[in-house]
Amino acid sequence: QAVFRSNLSHLLELMGSGKESLIFMKKRTKRLTAQWALAAQRLAQKLGGARRDQKQVLVHIGFLTEESGDVFSPRVLKGGPLGEMVQWADILAALYVLGHGLRVTVSLKELQSNLGVPPGRGNCPLTMPLPFDLIYTDYHGLQQMKQHMGLSFKKYRCRIRVIDTFGTEPAYNHEEYATLHGYRTNWGYWNLNPKQFMTMFPHTPDNSFMGFVSEELNETEKQLIKGGKASNMAVVYGKEASIWKLQGKEKFLSILNKYMEIHGTVYYESQRPPEVPAFVKNHGLLPQPEFQQLLRKAKLFIGFGFPYEGPAPLEAIANGCVFLQSRFSPPHSSLNHEFFRGKPTSREVFSQHPYAESFIGKPHVWTVDYNNSEELEAAIKTIVRTQVDPYLPYEYTCEGMLERVHAYIQHQDFCAAPGPAPPGARAPESPFILAPNATHLKWARNASLAPGAWPPAHSLRAWLAAAGRACTDACLDHGLICEPSFFPFLNSQDAFRTLQVPCDGTESEMNHLYPAFAQLGQECFLQKEPLLFSCAGSSSKYRRLCPCRDFRKGQVALCQDCL
Ligand code: UDP
Repeated sequence: QAVFRSNLSHLLELMGSGKESLIFMKKRTKRLTAQWALAAQRLAQKLGGARRDQKQVLVHIGFLTEESGDVFSPRVLKGGPLGEMVQWADILAALYVLGHGLRVTVSLKELQSNLGVPPGRGNCPLTMPLPFDLIYTDYHGLQQMKQHMGLSFKKYRCRIRVIDTFGTEPAYNHEEYATLHGYRTNWGYWNLNPKQFMTMFPHTPDNSFMGFVSEELNETEKQLIKGGKASNMAVVYGKEASIWKLQGKEKFLSILNKYMEIHGTVYYESQRPPEVPAFVKNHGLLPQPEFQQLLRKAKLFIGFGFPYEGPAPLEAIANGCVFLQSRFSPPHSSLNHEFFRGKPTSREVFSQHPYAESFIGKPHVWTVDYNNSEELEAAIKTIVRTQVDPYLPYEYTCEGMLERVHAYIQHQDFCAAPGPAPPGARAPESPFILAPNATHLKWARNASLAPGAWPPAHSLRAWLAAAGRACTDACLDHGLICEPSFFPFLNSQDAFRTLQVPCDGTESEMNHLYPAFAQLGQECFLQKEPLLFSCAGSSSKYRRLCPCRDFRKGQVALCQDCL
């Protein structure tokens, strides 16, 4: 039985010391202690004493190991990326607060000693018993485990969770398929269950959304902040001087400068001032709490197009700023942008922070075409005049993160035998009901095929998407979210038949877009390889059969009945 913890001092010891990255993470954990404790109290109340199993958990932060080069730690104080450290600090805090047994490793040696690899044996060929129920790591750590766990890696890989900022789509994860169809990248091809990859934002629901937290304000703080805003103060998003060199900034800045005083937090060395324009008030890289204070005074937080999808815009919005960012047209992706090249995703990014754009939106988030001076100027004028309340989506609060991680730990099991319905199988009686307007399928509540499934099968709603539409988007069109764990239930002739799809024939093949209907030839296709079930992906040739589900308000990872 796991018991909630509210004192984090032992966690701080477990986190070790020395590296600048660990110092940053520990400061953050310490500062957030009271918020975590309050969140634990609230969640405990919500769960009403339901039994929670205590797991033994190893957290191996691969990118911080010397063996993987640890390029991040030396840049912590120099404007390098901090988002990953924010996320790992919060993952550790969530696991610890939930009451699980925790070990943390940031070197290969520590990893080996925790895994029980005998000293001096780089690669242990024996299958040794693994003293952990769960291992959280990243792609670097995964590689290290593969090299040093010998046969146990294969045996225990289902216990691994990979923290993967931008996500890994199923087509890139399946080694044979990726190799045959041009989806091979530097990172993918691990043949894990795609849900074992955990992302920073809810990208494709093929992966699990792990997230991080942003500090939450109480009502008094919110009122104070609203009263103390300087209506003409703008802070530019980005810690590195290079963002000021991004194309087309001059025109943008001259417009902005007409209405607002521009502040920056760009790192610089004392001998060499940063390359930011003279009219910018640069504070240099600030410690996290001081950065938050600056956001509390500012009215506007402005994205220049890079970095992509970091924590700072959420912090700005939580502190009552409006976030202004540019629309990307054409969208950025692994096909056309260096940053995404080689990343195992085909996702198209339509703005610097798609989560802010689609999940938050106006009045907190304005996504405009920076090349259109009139649109930009009109947006800035309106923003200066509007009062905006601080806002933080529930899934980015401490309670929201605890709730989500709790649900994953209690319900996700990738070691169990694969799903109940083999491709093409028919239940003795159809488990489907056609919705009254004949547009989509529901799962009969009393159908016996999927007892104990999580999310529960009765939250399934299935649509035949329009040609060229991905299941991620098709589900969103109906106010729902794609749920890949429902694909096996849907991968049947029965589903097509109940939906009255006119299949002339049915084939079973390996294709990440299946199950689907090809209008040309009127053929229905079923998925042969369960690892390739994918919410992401589309082709104008196919109308995909898409499993959707509902979600809790502000917690897209969990269905209504998922707790
Ligand atoms: N941050 C900071 N000092 C600053 C600017 C930002 O400590 O002067 C923090 C900020 O609070 C956020 C973190 O840096 O939590 C990461 O922010 P960002 O969105 O820039 O993502 P990154 O590119 O660093 O991953």
